[in-house]
Amino acid sequence: VTWRAADGWTGRRVEPYGPLQLDPATAVLHYAQEIFEGMKAYKHADGSIWTFRPEQNARRYARSAHRLALPELAEEDFLASIAALVRTDVAWVPDGEDSSLYLRPFMFASESFLGVRPALEVEHLVIASPVGPYFPGGVRPVSIYLSEKYHRAGPPGGTGDAKFGGNYAASLLPQMEAQQRGFDQVCFLDGAESTYLEELGGMNIFLVMADGTVHTPELGSILEGITRKSIIQLARDRGHEVVERRIPARELVSGLESGQVKEFFACGTAAVVTPIGRLASSDFDVQVGGGEPGELTMALRAELTDIQYGRSEDRHGWMTRLA
Ligand code: PMP
Repeated sequence: VTWRAADGWTGRRVEPYGPLQLDPATAVLHYAQEIFEGMKAYKHADGSIWTFRPEQNARRYARSAHRLALPELAEEDFLASIAALVRTDVAWVPDGEDSSLYLRPFMFASESFLGVRPALEVEHLVIASPVGPYFPGGVRPVSIYLSEKYHRAGPPGGTGDAKFGGNYAASLLPQMEAQQRGFDQVCFLDGAESTYLEELGGMNIFLVMADGTVHTPELGSILEGITRKSIIQLARDRGHEVVERRIPARELVSGLESGQVKEFFACGTAAVVTPIGRLASSDFDVQVGGGEPGELTMALRAELTDIQYGRSEDRHGWMTRLA
């Protein structure tokens, strides 16, 4: 659909995948005025097709749009655009354990204009791609490098809580340097003081303490993950106290060394729940739980994927049927 300042949103259509034609002065190419979402459609055993908490993606999209001075797309129009694409050909949604149809809604400033001001013409599109398991050989703990040198999106009031492409552009160099050092992912620290844990490039993080409490960085400069929100609920359902707070990176390192921190994991739509087996920086290198996936980590992972794939009761009403 297209938005024009004078008319609002018009022209919903589904068309064959193909290149866009853009004027060289298209605003997004210069000032990065754009946002996106990431979600999945899952096929259940009876062939029906479902998605997970899409109203949460719709609301986050609206919050991101507000931050990037883009027009708000109504929740029902966001959901309708997802459903329309999936229903075009339900055979797109792959069968098979941990396979799904990845859905990518995105919005960008399509006006040709070189002045720095919010665009008066904007596009909202959705594209999709079948995806197989994130861990083809079975879940494997990942290694993390703490980024002290680079930040992702700035302190609260920056763009860290928006799903905005610029945050990801800023994460590419630290991610590449961490990989060159032999690590899978970067963990970003708060932009202001480099003291507190934030998140990975595309996942939120959780610590499981020896006393059974579960801790996760508070909101502000991080993306409010829908998996994060769901993991908080599932952990509380199991009787764990969940604390959202500022967590000093130093506290995590000493907690891993002393055994106070038992499990450390990351979560997001793409990989669901990912155990972390090693954490390092320029002056330390520690193992997590002997490098083996944690018990609560794997239990939460199983519980969430069972709900998403329709293998267990959806007791929180998180699934929405698309076809
Ligand atoms: N943080 C960042 C920076 C992300 O890109 C993502 C993926 N959308 C997440 C966290 C996890 O969010 P979600 O659980 O909604 O996928």
